[in-house]
Amino acid sequence: MNPVDGNFKNDTCMETTWNGSEAIHASHIYFHIPFCVSLCQYCDFISFTGKANLIDFYVDKLIEEMDFFPISRSLKTIYFGGGTPSLLEPHHLEKILHAVQNKYHLEGHAEISMESNPETVDFEKLKAYRRCGVTRLSLGAQAFQTNVLQQLGRQHDWHRIQCAFEDARKSGFENINLDIMMGLPFQTSDQFKKTIQEALKLNPDHLSIYALQVEAGTPLSTRIKNGLTLPDDDQVADEYMWVQDILQSNGFDQYEVSNFSKIGKHCRHNWAIWRGDNYIGLGVGAVGTVGTIRYSHRDSLKEFLQIRNGHFSTFLDQEFLPLQTRQVERVMLELRTSQGVLKSNLDFVFQDRQKKTFFEHLISQKYIVQRGDYYVVQPEKFFVLSGILDKII
Ligand code: SF4
Repeated sequence: MNPVDGNFKNDTCMETTWNGSEAIHASHIYFHIPFCVSLCQYCDFISFTGKANLIDFYVDKLIEEMDFFPISRSLKTIYFGGGTPSLLEPHHLEKILHAVQNKYHLEGHAEISMESNPETVDFEKLKAYRRCGVTRLSLGAQAFQTNVLQQLGRQHDWHRIQCAFEDARKSGFENINLDIMMGLPFQTSDQFKKTIQEALKLNPDHLSIYALQVEAGTPLSTRIKNGLTLPDDDQVADEYMWVQDILQSNGFDQYEVSNFSKIGKHCRHNWAIWRGDNYIGLGVGAVGTVGTIRYSHRDSLKEFLQIRNGHFSTFLDQEFLPLQTRQVERVMLELRTSQGVLKSNLDFVFQDRQKKTFFEHLISQKYIVQRGDYYVVQPEKFFVLSGILDKII
């Protein structure tokens, strides 16, 4: 992997709020597609069911919103996330990407990633996505066992995942990710391991292994309050170490706490964001960060569709990010990556004596080691990393 520029920078002329008038120095765009067939038990992403009839209007509004973000740099990555972006028909995608080409400059080898759910794609659709320019497909697989998938509220079984994966390969996708969950309340360790083994049989280019986060207000959190038990931390830690080993022996590079890829198949979009690059987010609920501004869209689909005359600023909540805050955030994200954080950046961020002392303690305990000019978290310590970062910050 080629590390991107490792130095902190504040490369924008914007300062406190964004009103759509200045050129934006960003090379990455995220489109949020907030539609799903049904809601999963654990999900707190911004998504709506039963609204597929609004997708045409939503696509037009996304295109209109691009004018509010006049990007001056060439685009290196585009990411369609959701929700379920694969509810977009190929003509929707074509329309969006055509607008991107017209309004911005898209690099010839740009990465165009798309999240998808297996039950919403088939060979013809995937072939059309590929023809539109999508280069990377991320399939929400989650688990091998049908009863586990049902408990999660997923709409597919493993056979459907296999079919979608094979259709994607036949359509020409050379970079396919599978999302898998771990730490589930209704899955044993053996079942989790079986999921990984079955996933490996498909020969994916990338695996994202996410530990379950129980989000307040979800049906799953209610079930847990009512007595459903989660696996204990030791079990999840064992599964995590097992997965690190098996993926490493199958040729995967762990480039982030939850992400493993074959050589050259890492997600360039996410990598850029973890390394502190500016990015634009478009659509309901989408977040973007440019220089000293973090903005987020509200989560009302109705309000978004009713925006008139390009008044997108009325739909955004904006936050001024002091350089110091952004740099601390960046350190947190960089420590989650295999590359780690540039030593000189830490020197700058940890001017606070207490944080510096704590960091030195982590180094002396070998949680964090120095590798060249970088400090990196030891892969076997990734599991406890979030606790470490909370303490540092
Ligand atoms: S498919 Fe994804 S976004 Fe939609 S409900 Fe399930 S987890 Fe949430």
